[in-house]
Amino acid sequence: MQRLSGCAAVLQPYASHPGRSRGRRHPEPPAPTRDDFQRDRDRIVHCTAFRRLVYKTQVFLNHEGDLFRTRLTHSLEVAQLGRSIARSLGLNEDLVEAIALAHDLGHTPFGHAGQDALDECTRRADPAGGGFEHNLQSLRVVDELEERYPSFDGLNLTFETREGILKHCSRRHAERLAATEPGGVARRFLDGTRPSLEAQLCNLADEIAYNAHDIDDGVRSGLLTPEQLDAAPMFAQHAAAARRDHPGLAGRRLLFESVRRMLSAQVYDVTDATRAALAEHRPADADEARRMPALVRFADASRQPQRALKRFLQENLYRHPQVVDTTERAKTVVRDLFAAYLDRPGDMPAAFAAKADRVQAVTDYVAGMTDRFALKEHQRLTGRALF
Ligand code: MG
Repeated sequence: MQRLSGCAAVLQPYASHPGRSRGRRHPEPPAPTRDDFQRDRDRIVHCTAFRRLVYKTQVFLNHEGDLFRTRLTHSLEVAQLGRSIARSLGLNEDLVEAIALAHDLGHTPFGHAGQDALDECTRRADPAGGGFEHNLQSLRVVDELEERYPSFDGLNLTFETREGILKHCSRRHAERLAATEPGGVARRFLDGTRPSLEAQLCNLADEIAYNAHDIDDGVRSGLLTPEQLDAAPMFAQHAAAARRDHPGLAGRRLLFESVRRMLSAQVYDVTDATRAALAEHRPADADEARRMPALVRFADASRQPQRALKRFLQENLYRHPQVVDTTERAKTVVRDLFAAYLDRPGDMPAAFAAKADRVQAVTDYVAGMTDRFALKEHQRLTGRALF
């Protein structure tokens, strides 16, 4: 199949057109030189939560090494992959970039360990309303927690960017959100429709990015060995092809060449499978695409090898005893912080201490922390150093 390359592709009818945006919650005059999605992206890059991503864990804790992915470099890789695919499909690159850069803004310190611990803490503190979801928290960051504008909280992003940021949402939380914003970004979780094609693309770009970079970081950390990787589905075939084309290639260069081939293969896979789905379903515009099955997709034949790769990473990396050990200590840090602030809200900055909903205030404060700030606070409040 021929692929467009080089110059910017024209936006297709099924793409999100900035001129047809459902707009912002607080109406604002248009910017003179940028469209609304470009403006969303710029607001995200300049916000405080975005800068915190550099000190937040992806898989390896920030202090474990300078070259591992952080939430920031992960988000940049998702944006790069997403934009590259968007361009060849005629989707809106700026919207994809905005969603990709914001998709992890709500992540807690210490990656999934932090999230699991915070989830458990909020459920215990508030059995009726608790439960922490990082996608929902990302939306809270851009809707409420950023304080940069004189007349509204949050960044006042467009519906389309916010819709993409809210990738998952439990029914309970969706109902609550839909009550405060009827017809808003939570609606689709209640009526079973899909988000824009740009949002669908960001979800797949996220997967492509972490499957590849977790292999790279896993080897860098010494927790995965090159021999083990020969048993890693999907990766092994590209490693074999790299060896075939470059006899004698070994070590880092073989690893990078294999990862590079795996990334490219997945990008072409999504591009081709999505193009075929678009040709079959022919959405007339972005809204019609929302009512169709997910059109941005991998080929059916790639699903099984992808699941196998995820399983491989689960078993050999995410559940590696060394990772599990840091996971447990990270959970303790989050649990201790949550309990301390709930008990003594005055230990938080005044703006958080003054909030009426104490559980929500503590959740927002802890979720916003970087890894290293959380460790510093933990030591200050408990006198213990866990790392
Ligand atoms: Mg991500």
